[in-house]
Amino acid sequence: MFNIAKVLADIEADSDQNIDLLADLLKIKSISTIPDYADECYQAAGWLKAFLDSFGMDAIIYESEGHPIVFSNYQTSRPEAKTILFYGHYDVQPVDPVSLWDSDPFDPVLSSIDNEPCIIARGASDDKGQLLTFLIALKYIKDEAGELPFSLKIILEGEEECGSKTLPIFLEDYKDKLSADIAYVCDTGMWDKDTPAITRSLRGLLSEEFKIIGPDRDLHSGEFGGVAWNPIRIITKILSDVYDDEGKVTIPNFYDGVNEVNENIINSWKKLTFNEAEYLNKIGQKSSSGETGRSIFEKTWSRPTFEINGIFGGYTDEGTKTVIPSEANAKITCRLVGNQDPEKILENIHKYIKSSLPDGVQVIFDGADHCRAIEFDTDSYYFQSASEAIEEEWGVSPVFTGGGGSIPVVEAFKTLLNMDTVLIGFALDDDRIHSPNEKYNISSYVKGIKTWARVIAKYQ
Ligand SMILES: [Zn+2]
Repeated sequence: MFNIAKVLADIEADSDQNIDLLADLLKIKSISTIPDYADECYQAAGWLKAFLDSFGMDAIIYESEGHPIVFSNYQTSRPEAKTILFYGHYDVQPVDPVSLWDSDPFDPVLSSIDNEPCIIARGASDDKGQLLTFLIALKYIKDEAGELPFSLKIILEGEEECGSKTLPIFLEDYKDKLSADIAYVCDTGMWDKDTPAITRSLRGLLSEEFKIIGPDRDLHSGEFGGVAWNPIRIITKILSDVYDDEGKVTIPNFYDGVNEVNENIINSWKKLTFNEAEYLNKIGQKSSSGETGRSIFEKTWSRPTFEINGIFGGYTDEGTKTVIPSEANAKITCRLVGNQDPEKILENIHKYIKSSLPDGVQVIFDGADHCRAIEFDTDSYYFQSASEAIEEEWGVSPVFTGGGGSIPVVEAFKTLLNMDTVLIGFALDDDRIHSPNEKYNISSYVKGIKTWARVIAKYQ
């Protein structure tokens, strides 16, 4: 047992020291995408290993072809303790264009934006600042309690920004050592600076390309127009029929596995500070597409989509060409939610397209790929205890948001290790991650450390 009040007071008292620690890590130019910075990536891994070792976490550096992974496999002596897995990444995005930075991207500066103190440097928010919130909380608890209340596996990777090539190899190699009750990832954001958030779902993705083939060669429209099937006419009809007037997708069984979000969560979304007109205005829109009667949150977090990403065929150069093209092409993607089965949906898309073709017109499919959506059980102990801990620190309960896109590592934990992930992060929309002048608010950092301390304290 340890005294959480003392831990929180110590973290608060040591704020400056912990900011210096972050600044130190931010000075390392661990840009994973540019081969010239490989040594710096190694250096960042070494820095993290040394930090973990400084409070007895016995980290190792795992090497494969790419940038190394820092791994720690800590065993608590407490009987019946849970096992936790934590993931973060120490690599950062390139800094170009450097001329748009107000200061050296790798010489962290303490500043203030809109009266909010912050630290400016590449990686401040994504993800060095965020991963340190968890690691520093561990250190304080270990110092205070002598040991952690759970066993813990820590994975810190150096290729998140460049495709995570080493990670699957590592997960396969270390499979036996990675089983845990739950994963925590600190790489997401808050709703706004006063409203913390836990991500409850991530949409999946299905992609496909297809080609409609009409005549066996391009034809003259004077000679054959009115007789030959024009594949562009067919493909546009097929694609326009995918949506009905209410914005619903008409592919049979498309909505199988789509769950309605529970009412408490829908109500919490309604309470969020959000101006729909302003949101639409920012993307140059005056109205929103999608299903009638659904909110923007539902449309982007909990409803599936069918999107036409590209359509090409026929003559597109200058002037007129009286041609009936022999083929037309389209690229489509679907965002998936809940338990939608990508393979069944793909099969139904294929059936729908084939059934829409006139006799003798053909279709060739090419390039299907997919990953399933992920939806967590927010009523589980892990989500509820994290929610309580967050509320204690921030004074408001966190909103369970959705992620519009996928996070591959979370998918891997689910499929390879059969483990849910609690995604908690303290980044803000204006942190300019991947952009010049990236920053992390000092309040995100210090309250972030305290939040994790409270999350960990729930296990004692
Ligand atoms: Zn990140």
